[in-house]
Amino acid sequence: MQTITATQYSVYFDLEGYETLAELLIPSRYSKIFILVDENTSQYCLPHLLNNLVTEIEIEIIELEVGEIHKNIETCTEVWGALSELGGDRKSVLINLGGGVISDLGGFVACTFKRGIDFINIPTTLLSMVDASIGGKNGVDLGNLKNQIGIIREPKAVIVDTQFLNTLPQNEMRSGLAEMLKHGLIFDNKYWDKFKDLKDLHTDDLNNLIHQSIQIKNTIVCEDLTENGIRKSLNFGHTLGHAIESYFLEKNAKTTLLHGEAIAVGMILESYISKEKNLLTNEEYQEIKYIINDVFEKIEFTPFDIEKIIELLIFDKKNEFGKVKFTLLDGIGKIKINQESDNTLIYNAFKDYSI
Ligand code: NAD
Repeated sequence: MQTITATQYSVYFDLEGYETLAELLIPSRYSKIFILVDENTSQYCLPHLLNNLVTEIEIEIIELEVGEIHKNIETCTEVWGALSELGGDRKSVLINLGGGVISDLGGFVACTFKRGIDFINIPTTLLSMVDASIGGKNGVDLGNLKNQIGIIREPKAVIVDTQFLNTLPQNEMRSGLAEMLKHGLIFDNKYWDKFKDLKDLHTDDLNNLIHQSIQIKNTIVCEDLTENGIRKSLNFGHTLGHAIESYFLEKNAKTTLLHGEAIAVGMILESYISKEKNLLTNEEYQEIKYIINDVFEKIEFTPFDIEKIIELLIFDKKNEFGKVKFTLLDGIGKIKINQESDNTLIYNAFKDYSI
């Protein structure tokens, strides 16, 4: 797979990835290597990485508990503490080996430890390969509110090895697929068309699709790293998606939804709003709804749930001057940023989703 070049780093694939890693991890550059894992990536991914890692530098492992509920400042404090106790200095490097929770939190910890050390992302979920590990957004949740604390800084390198996906559960694969579908919807209608009949897709196709998705995200990010314009396109489905995810994260609310599962619902709802604003035809909307619903299980929302989810919209990071801003579709493959919607339209979107 061809290397994808971003502004300050590159995304390397498979064997070339490990060769690049060996070239990067030399004693004249780094004093110590820290590998951040969670319980699952420690078990399923760390042995494979260590088998492929060629370096003379001392390695320390820091292991976290699994899950979004740990993507918070308390866990950062634990990792800062571990780095400090294990002798981390400004020449240390942190390798984030895991899904989006590990790369978001690990990236943030690295950017802030001793005013910033290098970090390398080695994504092990589909979602983190095509999305979370790319583009330099790092951060943690504030309570149940998603990604409120964070920083934009790019990794030193990203190494994608799709062999890690062999142990990833099916629901986590689907979660990553949501972001791939989004890439087609916001940027490339031909790419979207490839997902029209998922039954025709073979596992061999997956590597190419992952490469294409990374290319789409990287093209957008390279144009607008700090999200003043085109990068907002990546937020399609995320205004309502994040509010839904936050709502489901709340203690005692419901069973937790995976990020991609929440985004999948968000994309249907925001496609409905796009249709009602005459940006999308009814046929296009029905196609999007059909394809997404074919992959993801329907979620039930009571009127109380919807009310609470709408209340959460005021915490969205894209809001400006107290107004909730949506990225909507302007036909399949194109977007319109900074759009507003009244609550009735949002209620109607939920109503139509549940039919
Ligand atoms: P995750 O990191 O929680 O990983 C999902 C699950 O898969 C976890 O239980 C993990 O332990 C397990 N796992 C990881 N790799 C595995 C493997 N190879 N085999 C078996 N199990 C494995 O979640 P995620 O879906 O990867 O990422 C979601 C997070 O990413 C959210 O916090 C979201 O906000 C964030 N995100 C960030 C960006 C960004 O630009 N920074 C973009 C999209 C999403």
